[in-house]
Amino acid sequence: MRNMNPKIVGILDFPHLKFRYNVCGQAWNPTIKLGGRLSRKDWQCPNGCKLKESKES
Ligand SMILES: [Zn+2]
Repeated sequence: MRNMNPKIVGILDFPHLKFRYNVCGQAWNPTIKLGGRLSRKDWQCPNGCKLKESKES
């Protein structure tokens, strides 16, 4: 499976597909739809975490 949001989500796929969110470390079992697709919200942390934009320039 392709990671659509690698900055937020890490994919742990053994023994079952599982995500781990990089921001808070929350583990999550995404609900896979028919056809093996994931809903868009599965690529966001269920706790609503977002990466802080780094504005160092
Ligand atoms: Zn989070």
